[in-house]
Amino acid sequence: MKSYLKMSKNELSAEIERLRKKYKKYQGLELKLDMSRGKPCLEQLDLSMGMMDALNSEADLSCEDGTDCRNYGVLEGIHEARVLIGDMMENNPDNILIYGNSSLNVMYDQIARSYIQGVMGNTPWCKLDKVKWLCPVPGYDRHFAITEYFGIEMIPVPMSKKGPDMDMIEDLVAKDESIKGIWCVPKYSNPQGYSYNDETVRRFARLKPAAKDFRIYWDNAYGVHHLYDDHQDYLIEILAECKRAGNPDLVYKFSSTSKITFPGSGIAAIATSPNNLEDIREQLRQQTIGHDKVNQLRHVRFFGDIHGMVEHMRKHADVIRPKFEAVETIFRENLEGLDIAEWTEPNGGYFISFNSLKGTAKKIVDKANKAGVKLTPAGSTWPYHKDPNDNNIRIAPTYPTLDDLKTAASLFTVCVKLVCAKVIFE
Ligand code: PLP
Repeated sequence: MKSYLKMSKNELSAEIERLRKKYKKYQGLELKLDMSRGKPCLEQLDLSMGMMDALNSEADLSCEDGTDCRNYGVLEGIHEARVLIGDMMENNPDNILIYGNSSLNVMYDQIARSYIQGVMGNTPWCKLDKVKWLCPVPGYDRHFAITEYFGIEMIPVPMSKKGPDMDMIEDLVAKDESIKGIWCVPKYSNPQGYSYNDETVRRFARLKPAAKDFRIYWDNAYGVHHLYDDHQDYLIEILAECKRAGNPDLVYKFSSTSKITFPGSGIAAIATSPNNLEDIREQLRQQTIGHDKVNQLRHVRFFGDIHGMVEHMRKHADVIRPKFEAVETIFRENLEGLDIAEWTEPNGGYFISFNSLKGTAKKIVDKANKAGVKLTPAGSTWPYHKDPNDNNIRIAPTYPTLDDLKTAASLFTVCVKLVCAKVIFE
């Protein structure tokens, strides 16, 4: 296909006319499709229905150590769940604290506690004039929403295939004591699907922040969410690396089974150093007597062990891999060579990150919406919804059926071409 940038005015104008007709046809279909959120589809949810049979009224709800899951207690979570989630997160069960149904909730709580009580005896953030946070971009909108809610000043840090810009991070955290944290999605990042390389993880573990209460918020939401058996991303384990580097308390690592079993009805956890765990437990004790042990036991009985979970994730991959491949094929067939767009082709996770020409993302999303395809609002991948280039769009291929997704992706490429051709023409 000829690059739009090399087309004459006449060629471009003919192309715009052709695309307008195509777009009108799509409008006539009265579509109602959603590529906006990273939600599992029905087929994926059905994979976990067996969990509903894992416990019934006849079941013995005692743990291996005799704890009755029907009653109060066990703040850190039942041991067998800490073993399972420990294997999932690649951490020792002793470093794991199991929470409720959402890891975002845990991240929010962690920041709230830092505001109210402070981190390990440091000044509570509510008493500071300024709290700042580093935000690799494009990133996850709900992370940015939490820090924005607390009035934290967010500083964008550029991402590449290797991870965030470590020169910038090292420099900023070393000289600014008001920087208290950074959002990281180290594996199959949201939205690019990038995984941090060894050098990036090693440099994270060796950060020398000016703030004693600086913590890396390492959101390993997609740790076991591979799309392929034969090419998977691997990461150096951050807790172990921090310990090796003499920085054992530098990181809070988060994860959940939201996109393994049922989002909103899974189990979430934090993995961190013994010092951090003690600090957290001190405050958590005032918040709850314990989380949902029945759900923890249900997950353990359903999976058996990590091997059961790995097998289960293969079934997820079989459902969603064709969806990622379909989108990537449609993008390649319709956009390659036009010099107006680039996109990621991840090995796992839930998203594809799409970059179009500067100043076009809002228009593209709007055009797709008007033809019945809902996309994540442009700007969402940046703090304060402000994408300075207005060119990044997050694509979430998992939720629609394969047929719907193909229609949505094809229409999306028409919108991209139409908007970009017009911008170049003008
Ligand atoms: N973290 C990341 C990076 C996500 O992409 C998502 C969901 O899309 C979540 C966390 C949500 O996790 P949870 O359901 O455990 O709150």
